[in-house]
Amino acid sequence: MTHHDPLELSVEEFVESGVDSVKASCNCCGKSWPALIDVMPARTTLRKIRALMVCPTCGSADVDVKRNWPDARVTY
Ligand SMILES: [Zn+2]
Repeated sequence: MTHHDPLELSVEEFVESGVDSVKASCNCCGKSWPALIDVMPARTTLRKIRALMVCPTCGSADVDVKRNWPDARVTY
């Protein structure tokens, strides 16, 4: 069994799983918004996406991203 850190999953793997967006949330002001990931290069990891995210409300780069699985059965 492989232990996949969700942050190491790539856009390619997300899209293959039927996931085309992630839920981004700002640790600074609390805003959350859906972020499309299928516009990113296929090899981009969730970790990289998180590093690139900037909050549209307060401009903070302290943004968390979560998987947006269709069945919403996410455990951490
Ligand atoms: Zn913010």
